[in-house]
Amino acid sequence: MKYALLDRGDRLSRQLAEQFHTLARARGLIHDESAPDIVLSIGGDGTLLQAFHRFRDKVRNVAFVGVHTGHLGFYADWQKNELTELVELMASTEPKTVSYPLVKVEIVTNGGTSVYMALNEFTLKSVDGTLVAQLNINDEPFEMFRGDGIVVSTPSGSTAYNKSVGGAVIHPSLEALQIAEIASINNRVYRTLGSSIILPKHHHCDIVTDPEEPLAIGIDHLIMQFHEVRSIVCTVAEDKVHFARYRPFPFWNRVREAFIGLDQAQMASTQKRPR
Ligand code: NAP
Ligand code: MN
Repeated sequence: MKYALLDRGDRLSRQLAEQFHTLARARGLIHDESAPDIVLSIGGDGTLLQAFHRFRDKVRNVAFVGVHTGHLGFYADWQKNELTELVELMASTEPKTVSYPLVKVEIVTNGGTSVYMALNEFTLKSVDGTLVAQLNINDEPFEMFRGDGIVVSTPSGSTAYNKSVGGAVIHPSLEALQIAEIASINNRVYRTLGSSIILPKHHHCDIVTDPEEPLAIGIDHLIMQFHEVRSIVCTVAEDKVHFARYRPFPFWNRVREAFIGLDQAQMASTQKRPR
C-alpha cells in the first residue's frame, strides 16, 4: 500500500505527519507522492480540499483519508491521538470505499474553455459589486439574478458555504448539485426563486454574465479572477471522489456532531415519548 501525505503546515500537523511516517515505515507502508493508493491529509477540512486539488488528475485512482488536528471534520474523521490505530488498519485491512459526487464547472471565455472540478462548491461573484447573471436550466431561461453571488455546491459541500446562505444539507449518496443565492435583490426586473435549487445528474445549469464584467470565481478554497466570460456550465461530474473508510462514520452523525452537538441530540431522544 502506497500513501501520500499533505499536512496543514502548522506545528501540530507537521509533528503528526512525522509520527505517521515513522509508524507507517514500521508497518511496511510505502511513502509515494507520485502514485499513491491513499492520500492522507492532516489538518482540517480545508487541508483535505488542498489534497483533493493536488491529486485532482488522479482522482479516479486514489482514496482520501483525513486526520483532523482540531475537532472532527466533514472530510477528516480521524483524531490526532488515533494515528497508531489508523496505521494498523491501513496495514492490515481493506477499507470500504465511499464515493461522493463532484461539481464540474466549464468556464467559457473569448479565449477558450477552462474546466474545473469542485469538492465543496463553485462560487460566482462580481469583482466590483453586484453580480448580474442569467440562469438557464437545461437550456431554458430560468431566472435573472442580481445580488451578491451564486453558490453551486456538491452534496458533501452542502454543509459548508451553501449552508451559511440557507441551502439544504444533502446526503452525499445523492448525485446532485445545489444552486443557492447569496443576497439576491428581488423586484419586477430581477426576480429569483429565493430558495435553493437541487438538480439531478442529467440536468445542467448555464450561468450567462456580461462579458464586460470581471468575475471572481471560487473553486473550493481557490479564488480566481476571470475576464470576458461568456457563460459557465455546471453539471454533476462523471468522476467522483473516493474516501477510504476504515470504520463507519455516518454522514448524519457528522452533521449532528458539527452543528447540533451530542448533548442536544440526547436531550431530544429523552423527550421522545411513545403515544
Ligand atoms: P476556511 O475559511 O478555513 O473554511 C471555513 C470553514 O468551513 C472551516 O471551519 C472549514 O473547516 C469548514 N469547511 C470546509 N469544508 C467543509 C464542509 N464540506 N462541510 C462543513 N464545513 C466545511 O477555509 P478553508 O478551510 O480553505 O475551506 C474553504 C471552504 O470554506 C470553502 O469551500 C467554503 O465552503 C467555505 N467558506 C464558507 C464561507 C461561509 O460559510 N460564509 C465563506 C467562504 C468560504 P476546517 O476548519 O476543518 O478547515
Ligand atoms: Mn480551514
